[in-house]
Amino acid sequence: MKNIDYRLKKIFTLIVVLILLSLLLKFIWQIFVNQSKAQAKDYQSLAAIPPELIISVQKTKPGNWQDYASILIAIFLTHSSNSAEAELPMDTSNSKPKDYYYLILSTDLKIQFLLTQLDTHVAYKNLDWEGVDPELRKKANYYRQLFEKYPIFEPDKYQFPLAQSCYYTDTYGAAREGGARRHEGTDLFAAKGTPIYSVSSGKVERLGWNRLGGERVGVRGEDGNYYYYAHLDTINKSLSIGTEIKPGDFLGTMGNTGDALTTPDHLHFGIELPNGEWLNPYSFLKVWEYHKFNQ
Ligand SMILES: [Zn+2]
Repeated sequence: MKNIDYRLKKIFTLIVVLILLSLLLKFIWQIFVNQSKAQAKDYQSLAAIPPELIISVQKTKPGNWQDYASILIAIFLTHSSNSAEAELPMDTSNSKPKDYYYLILSTDLKIQFLLTQLDTHVAYKNLDWEGVDPELRKKANYYRQLFEKYPIFEPDKYQFPLAQSCYYTDTYGAAREGGARRHEGTDLFAAKGTPIYSVSSGKVERLGWNRLGGERVGVRGEDGNYYYYAHLDTINKSLSIGTEIKPGDFLGTMGNTGDALTTPDHLHFGIELPNGEWLNPYSFLKVWEYHKFNQ
């Protein structure tokens, strides 16, 4: 009898321990899932910023462009949420950057005072927000923290994948294969054989043929994102899985392999977030391109 009691106790303890362990694992997993969800939301917010705005402030306020950009974005988002247009104004037709900074000179005095403070080198964290709409401040803080956390608009950390300017438009989300799937990247058009360079640092994760991409190179960035270069004509022979990559390293040459066989030669460039979501690379490309060719 005593023996059975002892065994039952042992089994019971084991079950309790297993339940607790699985709850703990579930808890840890949930933290991980929530983190990657938040990160994806952050990157999607960055991808939605018009490149003209970033270029404009990087050009006119190189020392603290993140401060100005955060406040300008917050102004646009706060103003547009009052109107029917709830998105940032994206001007894809005009390649000349609009001077966003001067666009806001007509807005209210409190906001002008914020910008005057930045002009006189008050640090962002010491700004006097007296009288400014708290919603606007919250949005500005959100973007300020994004720029700090994800340096994807920093031209010294990332770079344009070609050694020349080329034709590309924002076709992210356009229908492909008669609407069966969506376009999950940006197509950059240039002649066959045009060299393609890595935009980021990281490690080669995938290499060679796949059905849609043809000859492709996939680089796992140091930032955790997956950078995808497809339809290459040739791949740099010195690359193999695990090769360390720096921004500007030669990956291969432009072509039309894979499902691009019937289209003009182009690079399909994609950015996949760690949670599997694809990011629209258009704004980042425009900013990197500006810095590569307008210094
Ligand atoms: Zn494409």
